[in-house]
Amino acid sequence: MEDPCPICGGSGLTLVEQTGPDGLPQRFARPCACRIERRAARMLQQARIPRRYEHCSLDSYETMHATATDSLRRALRIARRFASSYPVETAGKGLLLTGSSGLGKTHLAVSILKTLIAERGATGVFWEHKELLDELRSIYSLRTAGAESRLLKHVTTCDILVLDDLGDITPSDWSWDTTSYILNSRYNENLSTIITTNLDNEPRQVSAEPYDRFAEARRAVARETLGDRIGERMRSRLQEMCVVVEVQGEDFRQHVKRASFA
Ligand SMILES: [Zn+2]
Repeated sequence: MEDPCPICGGSGLTLVEQTGPDGLPQRFARPCACRIERRAARMLQQARIPRRYEHCSLDSYETMHATATDSLRRALRIARRFASSYPVETAGKGLLLTGSSGLGKTHLAVSILKTLIAERGATGVFWEHKELLDELRSIYSLRTAGAESRLLKHVTTCDILVLDDLGDITPSDWSWDTTSYILNSRYNENLSTIITTNLDNEPRQVSAEPYDRFAEARRAVARETLGDRIGERMRSRLQEMCVVVEVQGEDFRQHVKRASFA
């Protein structure tokens, strides 16, 4: 058992004195700081932040290593501005963090989520795109419809949703319908979604020539784009919902690995 809070003695409330409308001092009960802290700790626990990202913060985002590009510093600036202007100036917009893996996109997304929960009292949750769909599918197959709708309700109504690794899924109509349902619901309710993806934020690479027999071969060689993977309609919806932040550079996890084993 922890020691009771020295401010409120464990009641969770503090009394503040203010001048009332009649000019006489009045005492009001306010939630104590310890209660606000406990709530934040509880909300953080429920946010499903993976253990390897638990200690991420905006301050620990590394932009000074040798291979860091200006895009990382810009991404950090935008992340900070997003966190400090949330929720009024962000007005329901989210962030779409794109770029190859290993550049700390998830680190930034988690850091914003943690900041908003701890400092703004926001409700929020982290889901890998694939994991979320797998979970919904398994609940669905067990026919526990109540649980499915609870999970769907949670991800469509919490203040902040981090959707990690968008597009890294086995494509199916059900997957896309479910994903667009979640994104559209949040968009319509003015709720910010923070999305990361390793795919380039480029349109679908459809050939202009209807009978271009090399199109197939070109597609096979080209790097798959976000438009290829999630379709143009969903990609353009994401541009409306989110500020796009492109992160470029060398994978610094690879870099660190090479450096320490060379
Ligand atoms: Zn207290």
